[in-house]
Amino acid sequence: MLDIRFLGSGGGMPMPNRHLSSLLISFRGRTILFDCGEGTQVAMRKFKTGFKTIDIICISHVHGDHLYGLPGLLSTMGNSERTEMVTLIGPRGFRNFMDKILFLVPNLPFPVRIIEGGGGPLIFRLEEDRLLFQEKLDKYKENLTIDTLELDHSTECLGYSLTLNRRPKFLVEKAEEYDIPKNFWKRLQNGETISYKDREYCPELVLGEERSGIKISYITDSRPVGGIVDFINKSKLFICEGSYGDDADLHKAIKNKHMTFREAAKLALEGQVEELILTHFSPSMDEPSEFIHNARESFANTSLAYDGLSKTIGF
Ligand SMILES: [Zn+2]
Ligand SMILES: [Zn+2]
Repeated sequence: MLDIRFLGSGGGMPMPNRHLSSLLISFRGRTILFDCGEGTQVAMRKFKTGFKTIDIICISHVHGDHLYGLPGLLSTMGNSERTEMVTLIGPRGFRNFMDKILFLVPNLPFPVRIIEGGGGPLIFRLEEDRLLFQEKLDKYKENLTIDTLELDHSTECLGYSLTLNRRPKFLVEKAEEYDIPKNFWKRLQNGETISYKDREYCPELVLGEERSGIKISYITDSRPVGGIVDFINKSKLFICEGSYGDDADLHKAIKNKHMTFREAAKLALEGQVEELILTHFSPSMDEPSEFIHNARESFANTSLAYDGLSKTIGF
């Protein structure tokens, strides 16, 4: 199960009624932050999300509306006496920007791990009560896989997907059939092979087939390039920028390397996602809801992000 919270839904600059686009995804009490524009901390306070559980920060690109909140947030995390590592992921050139940001907030009490250019797929698992980087996927455990895609924007920009795998089902009837004592069941479910009464029992004996997990994809800012369709394929939730609602603003979307609602919805349709939420609305658009029909004509299950919107996605 993943919990999603939109901290903001605007692009360009923070507005009195709209924070900048950023998103928190929580898994078993630990959190991943996607983008951190100016004012992200204010939104966190407003929606009482806290910042102490953030283990990973994914930055799409180094435009201010996705980044300027970062020094402030890191400073606050430092002031809260955090000592556990924070992983920061960003596009090519990100390390250089991070050097400057870390110059602004020296002496952080926690180590920072910087992953530049995506470098995915990256696996994280809940260990020692936080999300820690792992060398490889362990199908018997819950892994979060973060993958990236290079987008087409006016600067280096990454789209992200986050996948929570689903562990195989434990087949009680099989365990009973093989007469395996109950106290071994959990260990088998965790992938351990058990020796008992001169026999070996491997997990496959009592576990079902692979099951599809939860995939969420996050694409902002970009033109609707072809690679996105495969990248977002079969997402349960596709979060996409919709800088412009009005079809008449297509020329602006092309010039500024953004998307219209209609273009984002077409990606959702072709990517066979279950649900689309549009975000990153241009400050010039007062009422995005006036244009939602432009998206729904292509992809009916479209809704609009708003600041504070929260959602839980299960298997
Ligand atoms: Zn932006
Ligand atoms: Zn941008």
